[in-house]
Amino acid sequence: MKYDILGVKVDNATMDEAVNAVSQYLGSKDSHIVVTPNAEILLMCENDPQLRDAIGKASFVCADGVGVLEAAKILKTPLKEKVAGCDLGYNLLKIAAKNGNSVFLFGAKPGVAECAAKNLCEKIPGLIVCGTRDGYFTPEQDDEIVKQINDSGADVLWVCLGAPKQEKWMAENKDKLNVSVMLGLGGSLDVYAGNVKRAPKFMIKCKAEWLYRLIKEPWRFGRMIKIPRVIKLAKQELKRRNKDARA
Ligand code: UDP
Repeated sequence: MKYDILGVKVDNATMDEAVNAVSQYLGSKDSHIVVTPNAEILLMCENDPQLRDAIGKASFVCADGVGVLEAAKILKTPLKEKVAGCDLGYNLLKIAAKNGNSVFLFGAKPGVAECAAKNLCEKIPGLIVCGTRDGYFTPEQDDEIVKQINDSGADVLWVCLGAPKQEKWMAENKDKLNVSVMLGLGGSLDVYAGNVKRAPKFMIKCKAEWLYRLIKEPWRFGRMIKIPRVIKLAKQELKRRNKDARA
């Protein structure tokens, strides 16, 4: 079930449901896109039709942030829970490892994907990382990157270029890629490489992961003040929907 949150159709799923749905794509002949928008990405969509279209091409859209959950609540279509892309990607790799499906890690600064690959292989027995590549390239290199990924024989592709670059890259290259599922996972490679720490579990539980990231990476402040704007837009949207319903 998808809900329209400020023009983006978001799947209403728990983490387990999301992992189950996304793992169904493993082995598929078509390439499926998974995106994990937060409040900032919802706002970017307002002024970036190319990003909105790219997200529209995704098979599965997770709510990756309290801002999206709050907006959904205001719109009276509450979402079950936050599905952090970072955790969804990891949980999918556990299933891929069991099934013998391989993963290609694409994105972040040179050396980060290799480091993440090493750590992920230590954590997930049987995981096959069939290739890595950093995320700094020119558009002219797209075909060479697609070839490298296809030649690796990957089933799963992590695309960690940050938003909106990763969503647009996946939509543009979907038809050329032979992977069965690709996920736009932002800074996840930095997390698994150990360069960026996730918040302690109690903070995640209290929905305060944003506060931890703000303390650790104060430059994010400019991005986080987007949450109140999303809430304001959701309130306006609700008013508009109610008015339409009365008309
Ligand atoms: N990045 C990249 N290529 C670029 C720009 C960014 O590979 O051209 C990487 C960057 O090194 C970082 C990730 O994309 O690893 C973005 O991380 P961020 O924490 O900003 O993403 P978020 O998780 O907040 O979406």
